[in-house]
Amino acid sequence: MIFKRKKLERKVLLHNDVLDSILSYCQMKHPNEGILILKGKSKKGEIRIDGLVIPPFNYTGPTFAGFPHSFLPFDMSYVGIVHSHPSGSAEPSVTDLHNFFGLVSLIVKSPYDDNSIFAWDSSGNSIPLSIVEN
Ligand SMILES: [Zn+2]
Repeated sequence: MIFKRKKLERKVLLHNDVLDSILSYCQMKHPNEGILILKGKSKKGEIRIDGLVIPPFNYTGPTFAGFPHSFLPFDMSYVGIVHSHPSGSAEPSVTDLHNFFGLVSLIVKSPYDDNSIFAWDSSGNSIPLSIVEN
């Protein structure tokens, strides 16, 4: 018998009102980076993002954004983080991958429009992202 393990097809579904909130938050933070926690659910490789949390004690500058993870309550609905790159690159930096949190990392690049957002896994591979109606 041949047992072939099917590779889990991963994807990220982002609610459009959450996208709007992310984009306006990042615009507000510009030229500094903005950072937010993503809330949602993950089922069979599908990560659905339906909410946001502003991380406590977050610190940001033009080329960095972070928060002390130790201040976060343990919450299973935290599926990852989103942060912005005012420089206009959507690629995760080495620091981003070191500070990976949760299942997915979204990066929004300047100018923060609907086509400026990308999803990455902890190894820096891109994950397909779709915007969905609530
Ligand atoms: Zn970054």
